[in-house]
Amino acid sequence: MSKPKATSVKAYATSGATAPLAASTIPRREPTDRDVQIEILYCGVCHSDLHFARNEWGFTQYPAVPGHEIVGRVTQVGPKVTKFKPGDLAGVGCLVDADLSCPHCRKGLEQFSPTMVMTYGSMDKHLGLPTYGGYSERIVVDEHFTLRIPANLNLAAVAPLLCAGITTYSPLRHWKVGPGQKVGIVGLGGLGHMGVKFARAFGAHVVVFTTSAGKREDALRLGAHEVVVSRNADEMKAHAGTFNFILDCVSADHDLNAYLELLAPDGNLTLVGAPEKPLPIASFALIFGRRSLSGSLIGGLAETQEMLDFCGQHNITSDIEMIRMDQVNEAYERMLRSDVKYRFVIDMASLKQDGLQSA
Ligand code: NAP
Ligand code: ZN
Repeated sequence: MSKPKATSVKAYATSGATAPLAASTIPRREPTDRDVQIEILYCGVCHSDLHFARNEWGFTQYPAVPGHEIVGRVTQVGPKVTKFKPGDLAGVGCLVDADLSCPHCRKGLEQFSPTMVMTYGSMDKHLGLPTYGGYSERIVVDEHFTLRIPANLNLAAVAPLLCAGITTYSPLRHWKVGPGQKVGIVGLGGLGHMGVKFARAFGAHVVVFTTSAGKREDALRLGAHEVVVSRNADEMKAHAGTFNFILDCVSADHDLNAYLELLAPDGNLTLVGAPEKPLPIASFALIFGRRSLSGSLIGGLAETQEMLDFCGQHNITSDIEMIRMDQVNEAYERMLRSDVKYRFVIDMASLKQDGLQSA
């Protein structure tokens, strides 16, 4: 494989775990045969971006460019691309490449492929350089890893579906959440608020667990039947042993055992939140009731398209607050204070403006 040419594009990058994000440039390859080049219009701000930018998971290499909730317009396609033409809208989530021939890829579970390449923090096999995320002018991606956007939805509010959407949709589908089931969603942030919308759309009885009493009304508006303020032990106890399924969307340290105790026999708690530090588990919380604890990682490409099409049919998008690129550092601080309703989305046109602070 000959190396494609690289061009320099504007981006917002961080140079270290304690450095702010600032204007910079990164290389992007020219489209190869099966590549789609996308001008990024909106990019969601996931808490994973913050964990990654600050090296909380321990594998970040700098400079780092986060962003994996990408929507934009196709500007160029390689000669073998069949799904898109210039001018079409397209989306990109957390994955940009994989061999597509391993048993996981063949089952549509590209996220578990040993050759999976993440949108940021992996290696671009074409350039032999790190991958850089969506806080940038454009991205070039193999068409298998691009998604079609339902035409009836607000484009900026679609961006968070590419990570927060699929990350909550996939485990709710896997555990067959539906009518007659009592389902808990823990943490009403970017992921959690999408979890509420999907669990409600699938017909479950939905209970939100929040540390923020001020989010009670919002939780009900978003589709919850009940809201529990998790700092209140009595409110928690009232639900002991009653849940079929709980989805934990919390980004920081918290007591998992308190939620395991809320599961009915054979109930499952699935973690999608990825806090920096390990969470202790009391074995008795699992043994009694044959309860189980699992994890879930985004979703494969076919399921991501299914989720987007479901959102198109049911008119589901993310509740967003639009920000400029130079507000992203402040947005990270607000996200840490659980002060986001319920996803920041960057208007990427603001990356083109003059006078942005350079790294
Ligand atoms: P977010 O918008 O910041 O939401 C996290 C929510 O967790 C907060 O809004 C808050 O909800 C709750 N919370 C925060 N600190 C807490 C604490 N100390 N104790 C209890 N609750 C707390 O984050 P996000 O973007 O939804 O991401 C959530 C987590 O999922 C992150 O760790 C992220 O890296 C991870 N993630 C995983 C995947 C995957 O594939 N598994 C994909 C994307 C993201 P309340 O105010 O309601 O309490
Ligand atoms: Zn994410």
